[in-house]
Amino acid sequence: MLKILIVEDEETIRVGLKYYLEAENFEVIETATATDAILKVQEESVDLILLDINLPDMDGYQVFDQIKKVKDIPIIFLTANDLEISIVRGLDMGADDYITKPFKARELISRIKNVLRRSSKGNDSVITMKDVKIDMKQAKVFKNGIDVMLTALEYKILLILALNPNVVFSREKILADIWDVNEAYVNDNTLTVYIKRIREKIEDNPNEPEIIETVRGVGYKVGGSC
Ligand code: CA
Repeated sequence: MLKILIVEDEETIRVGLKYYLEAENFEVIETATATDAILKVQEESVDLILLDINLPDMDGYQVFDQIKKVKDIPIIFLTANDLEISIVRGLDMGADDYITKPFKARELISRIKNVLRRSSKGNDSVITMKDVKIDMKQAKVFKNGIDVMLTALEYKILLILALNPNVVFSREKILADIWDVNEAYVNDNTLTVYIKRIREKIEDNPNEPEIIETVRGVGYKVGGSC
């Protein structure tokens, strides 16, 4: 049974989360403070952490740093602050995902499962697509051995597709995987722009992409030829 640690000072949220996660057969431990969270991580084997950003004794970013120094456990930030800046800050730090409160239980569960799936592939942490390699441990992308600079969002989009070769992702599904359902930072048009930018960075010829293929009228996929 996979064990999830909830770090959240609001009791109602904590209790609700525990209920949903246990219903999904996760083992749940919980705490309301950063200090106790850091102790628990050292004492127990935890598979994933849900980490509130605003805690009474420390902010979530500091907790994140302290935990990651000791153990490489996937962390999903719970944030009440939906400013893009704080989201990007979280992702740049290496957070595995984030979710904005209030969230839907179904959405959270699917994000948790995604993150767990990604991290279990962490043992085999390099994905190769033609001359492009994604090193998931370093969160870096290389083309012909040369470091390709992707933004946090571009990296995330590429990773979603690359982790699921031959699976066609609708535009809606990509947007939902990146953002909470109600977020509007990336709309349909901006997604097109992001895909274009990623292609310019990783494809030999961005106009005839061979890595990220467009599936007309449906969405995108990383093709089987990779
Ligand atoms: Ca809080």
